[in-house]
Amino acid sequence: MTYLDGLIRETIRAEGPISVARFMQMALQNPDYGYYVTGNPIGAEGDFITSPEISQMFGELIGLWSAQMWLELGSPSEFTLLELGPGRGTLMADALRASARVTGFHAAMRLCLLETSDKLRAQQRRALTPFKPHYLAGLSDLPPIPVIAVANEFFDALPVHQYRRTPEGWREVLVGIEGEGLSFQLSAQPVPLPLPEAPDFYEVSPLALSLVQQLAAHIAKHQGAGLIVDYGYQTPSGHDTLQAVQAHRSVDPLEGAGTRDLTAHVDFSALRLAVEKQGAFPSAVIGQGDFLRSLGIDIRARQLKMSCGLDGAYKIEAELSRLTDERQMGSLFKALAFSSPQIKDIPGFP
Ligand code: SAH
Repeated sequence: MTYLDGLIRETIRAEGPISVARFMQMALQNPDYGYYVTGNPIGAEGDFITSPEISQMFGELIGLWSAQMWLELGSPSEFTLLELGPGRGTLMADALRASARVTGFHAAMRLCLLETSDKLRAQQRRALTPFKPHYLAGLSDLPPIPVIAVANEFFDALPVHQYRRTPEGWREVLVGIEGEGLSFQLSAQPVPLPLPEAPDFYEVSPLALSLVQQLAAHIAKHQGAGLIVDYGYQTPSGHDTLQAVQAHRSVDPLEGAGTRDLTAHVDFSALRLAVEKQGAFPSAVIGQGDFLRSLGIDIRARQLKMSCGLDGAYKIEAELSRLTDERQMGSLFKALAFSSPQIKDIPGFP
């Protein structure tokens, strides 16, 4: 049992069972013991590996996507390049290397990052030293200029509330104490949710929706574009998608708080609707494989293979299939973009 497990039990003893969102928030973000504060999340030695850590091609293509969006916006003389949840800073470092030759892009850019973990902030500053990133306390701190925002595997880290349909109506799934351990329980009282057509299980992340709303509202008002890449679904599946990962393995989400990553799948249809409601223009939701192929990942892989030996070429081929193959990250991982209403063609999307 970790110290944080003890703190969570104390909270439940004092207040009664807590929501799954509160549990995730405590386990991931407790300022002293939370997973993102103390853990070693990302990379081969960490708990999970992400697309930018698999291959430089991922960040490079997103860098060129960002530069292309800037050109489509009419090359504004000042804009914010924003990353939400930059991890080790790898995606942004690759993106900025690839976009360095786009005349005027870096000169016009203010680099802003949204990140809760001090430990990861230190890694990001190191990876991005020449670009002097500025940390935002929240999206309401965005300067009133166009923004181009990217987020990879950020939204899956945000807390979700879960509800289950019972004969008496919807009840919230809560985390309570059972014997020595924790268990999932249902709220004593039904919650009046207006969800007649939803399946019997429903997940929602109010924080994800509110961040997307703020971003889309900023883009509708000051222009810009956003790109979200993550694992998730287009139509609510009706399944519980909460999962815990430690050292690349699936583990019990209710044990070892602070030592394991907790995530839930992203509800892309809900994010898309939130974008539309704020007056920004969303793309279709497509697979990561289609998105990267349409941005030219095959050509980039060929280029890289020409400049290295046979072993290197095999490695690049393996990275390419990991990112794009339907059976790997090509279709469970999805991409959604949005932009100010005057831009109708977003690169990478049909
Ligand atoms: N984008 C990176 C890292 C993904 S992990 C990559 O692809 O490798 C999730 C990232 O989001 C981490 O940097 C984590 O610290 C950050 N994060 C999680 N919850 C957050 C929150 N509520 N606000 C800001 N950053 C958060």
